[in-house]
Amino acid sequence: MILFRGPPGLISRMVLNKDQYIIPRRDGHVLAGSSLENVGFDKSTTEAAAQTFHAAAARLVPALADLPIEKHWAGLRPGSPQGIPYIGPHPEVEGLFVNAGHYRNGVVMSIGACRLLTDLIMGQSPICDPSPYRIDRGDFPVRRNNAN
Ligand SMILES: Cc1cc2nc3c(=O)[nH]c(=O)nc-3n(C[C@H](O)[C@H](O)[C@H](O)COP(=O)(O)OP(=O)(O)OC[C@H]3O[C@@H](n4cnc5c(N)ncnc54)[C@H](O)[C@@H]3O)c2cc1C
Repeated sequence: MILFRGPPGLISRMVLNKDQYIIPRRDGHVLAGSSLENVGFDKSTTEAAAQTFHAAAARLVPALADLPIEKHWAGLRPGSPQGIPYIGPHPEVEGLFVNAGHYRNGVVMSIGACRLLTDLIMGQSPICDPSPYRIDRGDFPVRRNNAN
């Protein structure tokens, strides 16, 4: 991701093009992203990537070409092996509930995922069938600290 600082009102709406997006903020900041790499927990960034984003953003919205980059960062999108998030009680640790592995869609899914998790915690009739999201033994192994 890169963040530009521009004058408020420079861009009035979001611009989407395939995997690329430009998101203006009211205070003039403009967010541009994003790319995707399978690199484990590595959140480091490169100057080359920043320049690539800068050029791509300027192609979409030429007014961005001369704006400085205020911030450049990478975030994690933790997923699951099957591409289905884990939502529900941990099979080994009583009272522990998991809501994880949403990959690229955690924001979009948050309302439904949290509603399902709340239903399961409260013992209410769940909003949908929870079985596809179940956590099986071994999915989240427990490391026990036996040192006293
Ligand atoms: C660049 C980018 C763009 C994205 N765009 C979208 C989008 O447009 N729409 C969408 O739906 N999703 C999007 N996502 C995905 C979305 O951000 C994630 O699916 C969502 O944030 C996952 O939520 P989470 O709570 O599981 O994990 P996170 O949001 O990653 O939260 C995990 C939290 O745990 C904390 N933490 C980690 N380790 C520890 C520790 N040891 N102790 C204490 N705290 C810890 C972290 O600091 C963090 O606050 C995007 C992600 C990225 C990186």
